[in-house]
Amino acid sequence: MTARVPAKLNLQLAVGPPRADGYHGLVTVFHAVSLFDEVTVEPAAQDTVSVTGEGADRVPEDGDNLALRAVAALRAALPRRAAQPGGVQVTIAKRIPVAAGLAGGSADAAAALVACNELWASGFSQPRLAEVAATVGSDVAFALVGGTAVGRGRGEQLTPALVPSTQYYWVLAFADGQLSTPAVYTALDRLRASGPGKTAGPGKTAGPGKTAPGDPDLDAALMSALRSGDAVRVGGRLSNDLQPAALSLFPALRKTLAAGLELGALGALVAGSGPTCAFLAANAERALDLAVSLSGAGVCRSVARVAGPVPGAAVVTAG
Ligand code: ATP
Repeated sequence: MTARVPAKLNLQLAVGPPRADGYHGLVTVFHAVSLFDEVTVEPAAQDTVSVTGEGADRVPEDGDNLALRAVAALRAALPRRAAQPGGVQVTIAKRIPVAAGLAGGSADAAAALVACNELWASGFSQPRLAEVAATVGSDVAFALVGGTAVGRGRGEQLTPALVPSTQYYWVLAFADGQLSTPAVYTALDRLRASGPGKTAGPGKTAGPGKTAPGDPDLDAALMSALRSGDAVRVGGRLSNDLQPAALSLFPALRKTLAAGLELGALGALVAGSGPTCAFLAANAERALDLAVSLSGAGVCRSVARVAGPVPGAAVVTAG
């Protein structure tokens, strides 16, 4: 049983101060794009995982793998009276770069959930699967639903964004290197502690004398731009509170972002915790031009053209 699952961008990523549990409260606008991993599950004596493709050598092939954790979480969530399924062999074909801010690990977990739900005929609805997903990781529930959605809490409390199904054309610039998500949050806390208001994004309530912004707000202007389906307006409202922190740890990204904007992108931002940069193009043709020029400019390792929104994790082959 094979499931295909998309990478995500955050069109807005607003980060609140650290909470008592150590996590940061978020408001984010998730957007699934057409860069896919494939996850295959087959019955086996015990749970195992193997990984091939882009960045496979940096993905754990043990119980730390998020796809294996998702398999264990789904098994544990099955009703006690149901026949308990045996082990599974999980095979992940990666195209989503690892530790690139595109939530590839969470995507694999979501794909493993839908594939095992099918393999075991568990019959979990999508909302029930989303509950299991939220126990595996903050971005897993979104990878299940895909499209464009607003995430709150740690990103796991989702509401669909009521926007038309306009296609947006993106160019992704992959960096030579990775960024660790916890390291980027730590850098953000440090930056905020050293300069009030410095890293506040749209909708922030940071004021004079405050060392951290208040609870983050959804950017009403971004949502209005998305409702209009106007890529120029959307491009002008992209925002990511983690960007200054990602740039502080990976300064070369400044050049990448500037190059994309100079080459005509409607908007640019660091994807999630980075270091991938995402550029919005006016249409598919402009995206092709931008991809060619960016790869010639020597400001990134490689580029990919993707479109969004696309649906979330779905079974592609039964067998
Ligand atoms: P995050 O989802 O935390 O924002 P990211 O999108 O930048 O992170 P991922 O590709 O999800 O990056 O990888 C984050 C870490 O998760 C990696 O360092 C990797 O070792 C670990 N990981 C565990 N399982 C997987 C998986 N199936 N695919 C990719 N990474 C995985």
